[in-house]
Amino acid sequence: MKRWACLGLMSAAAFSGACERQPASTAEAVATVSVSTHPGTGAAGPDHPLKVTCTTGMIADAVRRVGGSRVEVTALMGPGVDPHLYKATAGDTARLTGADMVFYNGLVLEGKMTDVLVALAARKPVIAVTRDTPPDLLLEPPAFAGHYDPHVWFDVSLWTRAVKTIGEALAGYDPAHAAHYQSSTSAYLDELTRLHEWCLERCGELSAAERVLITSHDAYNYFGRAYGFEVIGVQGISTEEQATARAIVDLSKLISDRRIKAIFTESSVSPKAIHAVMENCRSAGWQVAEGGQLFSDAMDEPGKPAGNYVGMVEHNVNTIVEALR
Ligand code: ZN
Repeated sequence: MKRWACLGLMSAAAFSGACERQPASTAEAVATVSVSTHPGTGAAGPDHPLKVTCTTGMIADAVRRVGGSRVEVTALMGPGVDPHLYKATAGDTARLTGADMVFYNGLVLEGKMTDVLVALAARKPVIAVTRDTPPDLLLEPPAFAGHYDPHVWFDVSLWTRAVKTIGEALAGYDPAHAAHYQSSTSAYLDELTRLHEWCLERCGELSAAERVLITSHDAYNYFGRAYGFEVIGVQGISTEEQATARAIVDLSKLISDRRIKAIFTESSVSPKAIHAVMENCRSAGWQVAEGGQLFSDAMDEPGKPAGNYVGMVEHNVNTIVEALR
């Protein structure tokens, strides 16, 4: 129960031991939301777009889709940026303090921004997009004992819950435009439902034996559960953990023994460990291929095919299916 309380608004606090501060921050943030719903008291009036600052690109993309012309969205973490290691810069502080609302992933994804987000939650709505996701839908891998896996966006059906949370939070803050947020949330959810069905169908082109996904770090547990893959990351759930020499040797043996065709690098993690595994496999006589680069914790540059959430998921699924079959 205590952990769920942390998860609601400031799950990162659980990781840093700052959980005790959480109930106060939650209450303060909730109070801020309710005050802001009275016309004329919000920093942005009904005729002005809301200034919204988000941590990751995936969240910013969802806020843009749901908010449309009602929001001016800034993402702190751009392409190739690793949220597990990211620390707020001086410029970020200005973007956070100048925002009407802040959205972050939660579940300790932004582990090094905990103090900044806790402090900010006393002054404005600071919303974990995973706060309404029921705990029984979250994974708690043994390697991350006591904490939930934060990479929920890789199960498209689970990400729809984050999109709903975003829509409800925007409508709560800016009730004069609630109908706008509800209708764009509903249209985006329809698109995501079709994307989820496409993922199931496309992954279904692989046999069960072919569905082994080996990547730089454990970002794909939800993907694996949703689309039927066994998932192995060379590093742990957080990239703060470095791959050990033992892990590289053990994984290389598994790949060689099972004749796994390809393994994958990630855009926001160094490819060093994956390349070491490939080298080890080759020494053991198994030519494992580099299956391509997946986008895991960050999207591609804006305007590129994988520069938005839907395109990123399509890129990953196509890359995985093409390399493994
Ligand atoms: Zn990650």
